[in-house]
Amino acid sequence: MVAAAAMAQQNKASAGSSLPPVAPDLAARLAKWKPVRMSFDSSHLTTRDRQMVEKLVEASQDIDDIFWRQSDPKGLELYKRLAGNPNPVAVEIRRLLMINGGRFDLIDNNTPFVGSEPYSPDAGLYPRGLTFAIMHEISHGLGPAFAHVNGKQADIRESIGPVYSGLEEAKADVVRMVGLKWLVDHGALKQSDLDGYYASYVAGIFRTVRYGTAEAHGQAAMMEFNVLSEQNAIRRDPSTSRYVIDYKLMPGALTSLAKVLLEIEAAGDRARAESWFRRYDVTPATLAAALKSASGVPVDVDPIFAFHVHVECSEPVELF
Ligand SMILES: [Zn+2]
Repeated sequence: MVAAAAMAQQNKASAGSSLPPVAPDLAARLAKWKPVRMSFDSSHLTTRDRQMVEKLVEASQDIDDIFWRQSDPKGLELYKRLAGNPNPVAVEIRRLLMINGGRFDLIDNNTPFVGSEPYSPDAGLYPRGLTFAIMHEISHGLGPAFAHVNGKQADIRESIGPVYSGLEEAKADVVRMVGLKWLVDHGALKQSDLDGYYASYVAGIFRTVRYGTAEAHGQAAMMEFNVLSEQNAIRRDPSTSRYVIDYKLMPGALTSLAKVLLEIEAAGDRARAESWFRRYDVTPATLAAALKSASGVPVDVDPIFAFHVHVECSEPVELF
């Protein structure tokens, strides 16, 4: 017993050198999670039912595989590296990694329990510090929750009709830019990054309209381009046929556009939404020519994933 304990101690010391630094209270963190065996009785299932369950398990494992790579790729690397390591600390690290899906303690404000890298909400999915795409998504949740039509509450989507998707995408795009400026003004984001946000936004408009303007994001981007051009915040230089951004005019143009879009949603004003898009969702001939001259540039990437992707559709499973 004493010898075994001494050996464990020795193991811990010798293998310790290959382990990253860990929080001193790993055991206490683990103790907050009670292992519970999840039993599964398949005896009353038919062979086909059992095959179906196996497929669902496989699909869940694939989703888990994708999740790990998006939540914490470095944590996954560590999890694999420590496999088979008998050091009790290594075993504890692996259990905590599996529980949390990464190196950050979910029930302790995402404090790292291994290593010192702080948690970042960008995780493995976005480059560090990326607020741009996230702000668009957050902005979908901002603004009125319902419309006021004839003194009554009404569903915005229903009130606006078919042009709603384009209107809502434009709202998220534009309110996002107003939000980023607000965060800069209040010291939460760096002032020196602001012009970069506007440049990314305008580049994003060009990227989006290359997919075509039949779909909501394309309609939104085309409308935004025309409104900003009308306000001179985006200008075409006829001598070079290139577009330039007037960074000084951007904040005002975007704020007034945000106001229009939010008013339309708050009022559920279908006629105003439709006339706004009829007027601005038009591709100018000069822009069409500019896009044509860039037709040799690929429209998007075709990702080749580092992890195994399989889609089996040869044998559909009947669920009911
Ligand atoms: Zn969106």
